[in-house]
This record gives sequence, structure tokens and C-alpha cells, in this order.
Amino acid sequence: MTNRFLDLAAPGIRGLKPYQPGKPIAELAREYGVADIVKLASNENPLGPSPRALAAIAAVSDPARYPDANGFELKQALAARHGIAPAGITLGNGSNDVLVLLAESFLEPGLEAVYSRHAFAVYALAVQATGATHRIADALPADHAQPYGHDLDAMAALVGPATRLVFIANPNNPTGTWLDSGALERFIAGLPEHVVVVVDEAYFEYVAQPGYPDASRWLNRYPNLVVTRTFSKAYGLAGLRIGYGLSHPELAGILNCVRQPFNTSSVAQAAALAALRDEEHLASGVALNAAELERVEAGCRRLGLGVIPSVGNFLLVDMRRPAQPVYEALLREGVIVRPVDNYGLPMHLRISIGLPAENDRLLAALDKVGRP
Ligand code: PMP
Repeated sequence: MTNRFLDLAAPGIRGLKPYQPGKPIAELAREYGVADIVKLASNENPLGPSPRALAAIAAVSDPARYPDANGFELKQALAARHGIAPAGITLGNGSNDVLVLLAESFLEPGLEAVYSRHAFAVYALAVQATGATHRIADALPADHAQPYGHDLDAMAALVGPATRLVFIANPNNPTGTWLDSGALERFIAGLPEHVVVVVDEAYFEYVAQPGYPDASRWLNRYPNLVVTRTFSKAYGLAGLRIGYGLSHPELAGILNCVRQPFNTSSVAQAAALAALRDEEHLASGVALNAAELERVEAGCRRLGLGVIPSVGNFLLVDMRRPAQPVYEALLREGVIVRPVDNYGLPMHLRISIGLPAENDRLLAALDKVGRP
């Protein structure tokens, strides 16, 4: 169907395709009439947020007032956590917001952004909206130790005079692949000064892999580095939309001019602050994920499916046949996972790790409708 406003839209906007989110539970219930639904489609924390975060949400007493536009308290806590100045922090409506702010701040038609094939979908959307040029690096091959992961040499080869942004997801969604400290720092150190490099660490808290870097430690060394983190995953606050960027204060100064003054709500700020202080809740979610990730991986392998080793809270599974019909069959079983054909992976499904009983449901449903 034609859209009469398309010609009026900015050139970059004309080419946009909507982000495909995981199917909401209520939608599946409505469309398929199934009850008792398990959603393993959006890499959320199945334990939910810390009880302290829930208490902080309930204690927000003045919703008639605008939130603190500078997020003073939360920034103080994050600055202490990361050992950087509060001025180097940019709060976002999810880390997604920070990724978009980066694109808005540094890209325009004629300039370029580099990212990897099969990388997190928001990089492409954020770049597209600005009208800048996408330079998409081939990913590592399927038989590599990091199948479909970022190939840093291929990415470096695409960096040129017009490059302003490079996006790296570590670990990457949907592949679950990761980059080690030495290789990633060499890549960043080799970038020219006119390139801002974004290391997206949305799943940082889940990763226990030796050699996995905390890129925020490098901020003093590389003024062109931005590290993004989120409260949506391990902190269980995806519905409140809060994340942040860490960078040189001058770079954060630009992002903080571009962002909406009230892009994070008072509820989200209060919940994030409380969540940050509950290390025990965080640790229990991370431990649960580690145990269940291993169990789901083993279960998938037993069914004859291919599994890409993941360091996140999700698994990319090779269904060994077109995945869309399996996705639909799983929906009829009341299990929502994520098709990833829009990531160029039509034979795979991405499965978030849930509670033990939810993962049991998934494995039973795969046993019934998902065998290759
Ligand atoms: N980066 C990656 C790699 C992600 O997978 C996600 C969530 N799917 C995000 C960023 C954005 O998450 P949020 O906006 O909820 O912080």
C-alpha cells in the first residue's frame, strides 16, 4: 500500500522498516486463544526486578512533578560504580535511546557508520533515520568459534574518512557471541580520531567468560569511546526504559544537548538507583541464568538442534530448517520465541532463558514441534 506522506518524509526516514519486537503475551492470547503463555522472546529477566526497585517505584510520591532532568542521584551512583565523572554519563530511555542520540549527534547524509552483519537491529534503524551510509561488515563464518560474530578486521577495513560511528555489541544480540579484551582494545586503539566507537554492553552483567572486557575501564585512554549499559536485562527493568552511556564528558555534553530533557522518568530513575544497590538480587539472576542457559543448550542439542555458544541470557538455535513454521508451531504451544530472519538468519530462532519451569515448557514444546 502506498503512503501519501512518504514523499514528504526525510530521505532516511523513507527507507525505515519498523523494529520487530517479541510478540506480547496478551497479543498471543488474543490471536490464538491460548492460555498459560511462556514468553522467551525479548531477553528479559524472568526473576523481575529487585524488591528494592519495586519499593522505590511505589515510593515515588510526586508524579505531578517533572523528573530530575539531570538524574543527579542516579548519575552519582553510576559515576561511583564506574569510576568516572558524572559529567561523562548520559541517561537514556533505555540504552536504545543513547544509540539513537549517538546517530543523531554524529551522522548525516554523506557520512558513514560501520557495524557487523547480524548485529543488534537498532544500529541499522538509528543510522537509516539520519540518511547516513551503512557500511556493513561481513560477520565471522558459521564454522568459526564465534559463529556469525563480529569480524573486527572486516569492520576495520570499512573505516574511512567519512566514518563517524562504529557500533559493536559485546556480547552481540542475537548471536550471543563476544569479543575478548585484547582484540577489542586493539581495534579501538587503531581507529582514527574522527571515529566515535560505541561498545554496547547491554548484557554485561551476565558474562562470566574469562577475557571478556569491561570497556568502561578504557574510557580514560580513548576519548572517542562510548560504552552503553542498560537496566533492561540483568536488572529486570525493561518496562521502565532506562539505560545509559559512559564517555568522555565532552562527548556526553553533546548527547545531553540532543536528548529530550525528560527522557527518563522519575519512576525509572528511582527504580534504577534502588536496583543498582541490590547486588544480591543481581547475582541470583545471573546464577540462575548461567545454570539454565547450560540446561537449555544441552536440551536443544539432545533434540538434534544446533546451538551457538552464548554468553548472554539467550541462545541462538539452528533449527536446521526454515524457522518460521517452527516459530508458529511454538506459538500454538503457548511458547513465544523470536524469529531472526530479519537478522539474515532464517534457519534460526533466538530463545531467551526463563525460569526453570518456563524452560521446561520450551523444551517440551521443541520436543513436540521443533525436531529437525
Ligand atoms: N543493545 C542490545 C545488544 C540489545 O539486545 C538491546 C535490547 N534488545 C539493547 C541494546 C537496547 O535495550 P534497552 O533499550 O532496553 O536498554
